[in-house]
Amino acid sequence: MKSRILVLGAGFGGLELATLLSDELGAEADVTVIDKGNHFVFGFSKLEVAFGKKTFEDVRHSYRDFDKPGVRLIRDTITAIDPDARKVTTENGSYTADYLVVALGAEVIPSATPGLAEIGTHFYSVDGAERVCAALPDFKKGHAIIGICGFPYKCPPAPTECALMLDNYLRQRGLRDACEITLVSPLSILTPVSQELSDDLMHACDEAGVKVYLKTLVTSVEGGVATLDNGRQLPFDLFLGVPKHAAPQVVRDSDLTEGDWVSIDLASLETAFPDVYAMGDTAKTGLPKAGSFAESQASAVASGILSKIKGGDATPNTGSGECQVEFGDGRVSWADADFLSGPKLEVVYNPPSLEGRKHKEAFAKSREMRWFGE
Ligand SMILES: Cc1cc2nc3c(=O)[nH]c(=O)nc-3n(C[C@H](O)[C@H](O)[C@H](O)COP(=O)(O)OP(=O)(O)OC[C@H]3O[C@@H](n4cnc5c(N)ncnc54)[C@H](O)[C@@H]3O)c2cc1C
Repeated sequence: MKSRILVLGAGFGGLELATLLSDELGAEADVTVIDKGNHFVFGFSKLEVAFGKKTFEDVRHSYRDFDKPGVRLIRDTITAIDPDARKVTTENGSYTADYLVVALGAEVIPSATPGLAEIGTHFYSVDGAERVCAALPDFKKGHAIIGICGFPYKCPPAPTECALMLDNYLRQRGLRDACEITLVSPLSILTPVSQELSDDLMHACDEAGVKVYLKTLVTSVEGGVATLDNGRQLPFDLFLGVPKHAAPQVVRDSDLTEGDWVSIDLASLETAFPDVYAMGDTAKTGLPKAGSFAESQASAVASGILSKIKGGDATPNTGSGECQVEFGDGRVSWADADFLSGPKLEVVYNPPSLEGRKHKEAFAKSREMRWFGE
């Protein structure tokens, strides 16, 4: 009897997990992946869409092209998860599995911050990024705030990337002197993965004239005023927001979550329910919520499931990933981080350069080839 493996979500983590299982088991695999969408979009593409560098049509990858031996990808919306029975209900049916993996990412919740849903210009979803793109041409003078409304949130450096890209966008249009840019972040440094990267980002913000408030969150954006959790009020003409995040509602409605996220064993990514795993943004790992970290977690989950099916030792989660960061002027830096292999965080940092852009493009291309054969 083949073991039935059910993967919920065909995002960064789910695609990589299904690919690894197919690589290992071939046609003998019995892997079902369920996703409500028709396309995969890299997280960083949302910034490209927001600043009009690309359209949604340019950056989407159709699930029709994800074709792996032993894997079927089903388009359906998951409506309930019963981890005890390893049973999942969807809009169109139900599925049971020997191994269940929850890789449903994080949901953004604009309505959690008064005023944000009405403003609509939050760049953490494709729809929101398209609204930012539509709003930017009307912003010719005044104060723009890039504000984070909850923690944890995906891709810690992305809001700083947004601020630097906005600076560049306004300079290219000759509007920069008429505009102020402020970044509001709950973090104590601009990205917790690397002090060197944070220092370079802070230096770039200083040079660009981007004012940075750290260790504070935006709590409301009503009447053209952003209120921070320290009571400060900042009037704005344009607000580009990062909404509060949580595991998707269907996950929070299951018995899997404690608070907003799924608790897991950090080494194996297994939940308190036997043979039920959670990985990527949906899991409470304490690691950065980023695609490359979801990818390394997929490796640990694949290894754990394969060791149960075929015997042998499982390779634990390394907590590794790569942060590639836009500096707004075409340069990209990247930091390779490994949180869990050794006694402390190890980081190899590459300062911003045009070479870094080629590195980022090659990173994306290799995943497109691996998952979609493009
Ligand atoms: C602006 C921005 C920039 C970013 N930049 C980077 C970067 O440079 N590098 C990097 O590594 N990461 C980056 N990220 C983060 C990255 O996109 C995520 O961390 C990554 O996609 C997480 O992978 P995941 O598999 O956990 O979830 P996702 O990739 O989000 O996948 C979850 C999947 O679950 C599906 N789903 C959710 N609910 C349901 C349901 N009820 N039924 C069926 N399907 C459902 C969704 O459709 C989705 O396909 C960025 C994110 C943003 C927003």
